[in-house]
Amino acid sequence: MFKDYDVVIIGGGPAGLTAGLYSARDRLSSLLIEKGLVGGMINEAERLDNYPGFPEGISGTELTRLMHKQATKHGLETIYADVTALEIKKESRVVRTAQDSFTTRAVIIASGSEREKLGVPGEKEFTGKGVSYCATCDAPFFSGKTVAVVGGGNTAIYEALHLAKFAAGVVLIHRRDQLRATTVIQERAFAEPKIEFLWNTVVQAIEGSSLVERLILRQVDTDKQSTLKVGGVFLAIGLKPNTGYLKDVLPLDNLGRIITNERMETDIPGIFAAGDIRSNSIRQVVSAAGDGATAAFYAKRFIEG
Ligand code: NAP
Repeated sequence: MFKDYDVVIIGGGPAGLTAGLYSARDRLSSLLIEKGLVGGMINEAERLDNYPGFPEGISGTELTRLMHKQATKHGLETIYADVTALEIKKESRVVRTAQDSFTTRAVIIASGSEREKLGVPGEKEFTGKGVSYCATCDAPFFSGKTVAVVGGGNTAIYEALHLAKFAAGVVLIHRRDQLRATTVIQERAFAEPKIEFLWNTVVQAIEGSSLVERLILRQVDTDKQSTLKVGGVFLAIGLKPNTGYLKDVLPLDNLGRIITNERMETDIPGIFAAGDIRSNSIRQVVSAAGDGATAAFYAKRFIEG
């Protein structure tokens, strides 16, 4: 099937949903293509307490539901498919999924990021069998067990705090002696008696029989190896952008993120990027929403010539 739109938005996280709201409300025919669940990674957030307007906080899934409802009310169409290619032609751009192709005058790429892999023996083998990348999704499976969280950023701390509600104990393993997470989030973790910290430590292997049973650890300053018995391990060591399909299409930075100017324009006319996928993004929900609004604003200007 070939269908034509004014604007096609790739990715239905906060950046894509906001771009969709602005474009649709501006009476541009607008299609959002999402490969999984609308909302993307914010669905993993049990409670966002830094998105303005919600003094008691709001869950990622509820914020997504409201954003999608609002954009749809203004005319945004949504389909669920994986974008396989973006082709730039002289007068139009073509966005392809496995089933369909869409011609469009402007494309807003907001396909976000996915979790980095640790790349140690056992990680792949035990994924879904004790190795997890989402505490909000999987924490109840670990009730009463001791679990580890790897990483020192905001995500790792949020995961550890959430797991502390279910697990017997949480061991946070970080490769340095200082967390990267913001101070207010660190303070919550230090105040949680169920969380223990292993500093200057890295995971060398994840082992078990049918499920994860232990981690092989190495102390980075002494090189000393040890074994930690755990019922599960949550990996939260950062994000990588979903730009695989764009490698030969757009200039990307050394981390694979899309380079834009402050109007969210890429080097290619009619192609915009917004949110986490953008080089130098501060990767917050509120900034992603702002990027989405900016991209939609300048996409409209582009379409109007
Ligand atoms: P991040 O901030 O990039 O932190 C990744 C952590 O993993 C760092 O502590 C890093 O250690 C560690 N790490 C990286 N590679 C590693 C490896 N190979 N082995 C062991 N440890 C490794 O990632 P994130 O926590 O997923 O957060 C991503 C972005 O989302 C950030 O900008 C964050 O602020 C944002 N975020 C915001 C919120 C919020 O504000 N509500 C919530 C979640 C995420 P080093 O510190 O040594 O580099």
